[in-house]
Amino acid sequence: MNGKHVVVIGSGFAGISAATHLAASGYQVTVAEKNSTPGGRARKFETGGFVFDMGPSWYWMPDVFDRYFETFGKKVSDYYDLVRLDPSYAVIYGKDDILSIPADLQAFKQMFEDLESGSGKRLEEFLSQAAYKYQVGIHDLVHKPSRSLMEFARLSLLRDLFRMDIFQSMSKHVRKFFKEDKIIRLMEFPVLFLGETAENIPALYSLMNYADIALGTWYPMGGMHKIIEGMVALAEEKGVEFRFSSPVKQINVTNGKAHSITFENGETLDADVVVAGADYHHVDTKLLAPAYRNYSDSYWDTRVMAPSSLLFYLGVDKKLKNLLHHNLYFDEPLGPHADAIYTRPRWPEKPLFYVSAPSVTDPSVAPEGKENLFLLVPLAPGLTDTEELREKYYHMVMDRLEALSGQEIRSHVIYRRSYAHKDFMADYHAFKGNAYGLANTLTQTAILKPSLKSKKVSNLYYTGQLTVPGPGVPPSLISGGVVAKEIQKEHQ
Ligand SMILES: Cc1cc2nc3c(=O)[nH]c(=O)nc-3n(C[C@H](O)[C@H](O)[C@H](O)COP(=O)(O)OP(=O)(O)OC[C@H]3O[C@@H](n4cnc5c(N)ncnc54)[C@H](O)[C@@H]3O)c2cc1C
Repeated sequence: MNGKHVVVIGSGFAGISAATHLAASGYQVTVAEKNSTPGGRARKFETGGFVFDMGPSWYWMPDVFDRYFETFGKKVSDYYDLVRLDPSYAVIYGKDDILSIPADLQAFKQMFEDLESGSGKRLEEFLSQAAYKYQVGIHDLVHKPSRSLMEFARLSLLRDLFRMDIFQSMSKHVRKFFKEDKIIRLMEFPVLFLGETAENIPALYSLMNYADIALGTWYPMGGMHKIIEGMVALAEEKGVEFRFSSPVKQINVTNGKAHSITFENGETLDADVVVAGADYHHVDTKLLAPAYRNYSDSYWDTRVMAPSSLLFYLGVDKKLKNLLHHNLYFDEPLGPHADAIYTRPRWPEKPLFYVSAPSVTDPSVAPEGKENLFLLVPLAPGLTDTEELREKYYHMVMDRLEALSGQEIRSHVIYRRSYAHKDFMADYHAFKGNAYGLANTLTQTAILKPSLKSKKVSNLYYTGQLTVPGPGVPPSLISGGVVAKEIQKEHQ
């Protein structure tokens, strides 16, 4: 123990990761979490034998999780059983117009060839560039704290910046290789995870296609929450103390130094260092006195937030046909839906949607003979969210799901819970009810993101999906490690 006490606010992936790295290197660490269970956006709930993951469902970049546990002398298999999905997922372009995406690379190339002659060969070139970006991006760039341009000043990195396609859009990049509309939509899908459309995401992020096609789609048996359970067990083993149902009300600062936090119940807890793993905007605007905020209201108002979502957790009393574990419904064009998210925020007329049916893979998440469904409709952040609108969209999406999968589902739904903006705000203090944090646009990348270190409070740091490296489970895990390293350098 080095005698320093770190308080981490929030027990999402980033908060637990930061806490574990710090505890393992000798700090005394307390995690203060407002909710009664850990995981933040990746919490779970159980009812009537159904186990619902509340947020993330795609396990991509398995190497990032491997490295996380290996850092502490552990293996992923010490905590959960990982299986690779095959097919990886289905893309539904229309009734009986479905691509089932094979896990095997040769079969994937053949699928491309069948859609567009010569595209299999071009995919090889696309993937070799993407593999390079993945190596540099995930093994080097994302581990930079991005506090100064000088971190990127190494000659080899500067050369890489061009090879990494920072200044070209993903949309243009994909069209250089492929012409067939279905291929283009498939190749542009992974960047939606980064909170923007392919027109506004740098082609650097074709590394996501490498993650999708080469590294594969995986699933921890028992559900995504198994990752959180494993991380919490490891954190506790390293000595981290978790305090649940403990919302933080204030970070107390004197002369530019945080010395304690105050909980909603009035209790205070001393701290030598504070790590804010709760939503950055909430911490900056609600937990700090105005003089200590990093950013102004107008700064926050001009950030491009990643979408919010309307979610439905459904328990169905029969097994369903024509559904894989992951199903992307691209039977309507993305353009008008993207316009409703990014350009003129409104509830979309004909939304694309996503359905996860983890019980297709995992019998433990639904009672025997039943199906566990998770429906997701991406929406603009900041929209007015009412029960009437949720109901309207439930039926809109269900009409399409039933027609496209050729079966009656609604009358078999025995459990239904909806979740949208109001819940994201109430549960996570999410700015405008965002689901995935801040979009990874070019002007919100690396040093242009909200800084991981406070400019005004010498021992206050930020981690999580609104700071570096960005949204998603693997980046959040990495974010916790990056911030822990900065603290070790500056507050040993
Ligand atoms: C519906 C949905 C689907 C997703 N799908 C995927 C996917 O398939 N794959 C993927 O990789 N990523 C996915 N993501 C993104 C991924 O889940 C997030 O990027 C990641 O979980 C963010 O982790 P975090 O630690 O930054 O934040 P959070 O998980 O939000 O953690 C922040 C924590 O801070 C707590 N907190 C807030 N305010 C306070 C306070 N005042 N006091 C104490 N505690 C506080 C919150 O309760 C929360 O527990 C999805 C997200 C959502 C919402």
